[in-house]
Amino acid sequence: MKTSYLTDLTCSVCGKVFSIHKAHTFCPDCQATLISNYDLNAVRSEVDRDKIRIRPKGMWRWHEVLPVQDAEKIVSLGEGDTPLLSIPRVGNELGLANLFVKDESNNPTGSFKARGLCAAVSRANELGIKKVIIPTAGNAGGAMAAYAARAGMQALVYMPKDTPNANIQESRIAGAEVILVDGLISDAAKMAGIKAREEGWFDVSTFKEPYRVEGKKIMGYELAEAFDWTLPDVILYPTGGGTGLVGMWKAFAEMETLGWLADTKRPRIISVQAEGCAPIPKAFHAGASFCDFWPGAQTVASGLRVPKSFADRIILSNIRESNGTAVAVSDEALMQAQKKLAAMEGIFAAPEGAACLAALEELVKQKWVKPDEKIVIFNTGSGLKYLDQVVQ
Ligand SMILES: *Cc1c(COP(=O)(O)O)cnc(C)c1O
Ligand SMILES: [Zn+2]
Repeated sequence: MKTSYLTDLTCSVCGKVFSIHKAHTFCPDCQATLISNYDLNAVRSEVDRDKIRIRPKGMWRWHEVLPVQDAEKIVSLGEGDTPLLSIPRVGNELGLANLFVKDESNNPTGSFKARGLCAAVSRANELGIKKVIIPTAGNAGGAMAAYAARAGMQALVYMPKDTPNANIQESRIAGAEVILVDGLISDAAKMAGIKAREEGWFDVSTFKEPYRVEGKKIMGYELAEAFDWTLPDVILYPTGGGTGLVGMWKAFAEMETLGWLADTKRPRIISVQAEGCAPIPKAFHAGASFCDFWPGAQTVASGLRVPKSFADRIILSNIRESNGTAVAVSDEALMQAQKKLAAMEGIFAAPEGAACLAALEELVKQKWVKPDEKIVIFNTGSGLKYLDQVVQ
């Protein structure tokens, strides 16, 4: 049996085809993200979705729709297969009968960034890359450092100097060199880009590298499997660069082509950001197809402090196609929600994940969601990584 059915990559704007036998970043003509394509017809006839359930646990159960060609090149720390937890007490308070948290805090390095960086570093490993570089708002740096260590690669991380201490320390202890930047992730990205060109580091920035989104899309496959090959009605996703949002939307399309979904009704996607950095809600409600750069971005939810995503057009188009919406919440509201989730359900969520509960409270008030709808909140990381920011 084949490990991966990846066939080629295409530019998300001009459609130009790129070979899978070489390392790529993004389309040089369009400055746009490359999309991974798989021979889904072959997967459809050769792979039984129900056999995937009984494979050893983890993200790589889904290897046919992941990019690594040679299984021996996979660098794993046990990512994926996170629990889907029902949260009945919070649900009851909000008058919602089917409320769930997909708890990504159980991933290696305590956030769902592990999924994306696992895929990217494994593929880089397969393509013979020896040094990887990343600009990060925090968790992506820690995840890249861990997987690079395991692959025996050199790692260089650029992060804002006010990134949570846990992210700085976890990167350093894994052997990465950490450069603290007096600025935002956008400034870090510029510096990392220059360094990459000058010294030949491979840049795994969000959406400037094709495979992180492939790792993240597996959250969509896991959801469908957990709901018996149907999809929930509503997904709330805390959006920074948007890899999980775009990845899951791609996963839904792939599963439709594969004939794996018992019911192809797609969820409405709610993109959640913080009021101090809300380029997606702003563009969404203005009817714009791309985001303006958000000046002076500030929020305790550091993963959401992304003033402009490289894939803003794709994010906005996916939200609209899903009949979803975009919501910005205050830091105060997300910290209240963080307390509530911990005190009522025992889930100590990252502020980014907690922001989704705050957004849901808002949507319940607006009657945007119905009481019996199946609703999934993504808790993308562990609250333990943000102890400096936690309010008692
Ligand atoms: C990076 C990050 C996000 C945003 O994820 P994207 O897929 O880049 O939008 C949300 N929450 C946490 C905890 C993060 O680290
Ligand atoms: Zn192009």
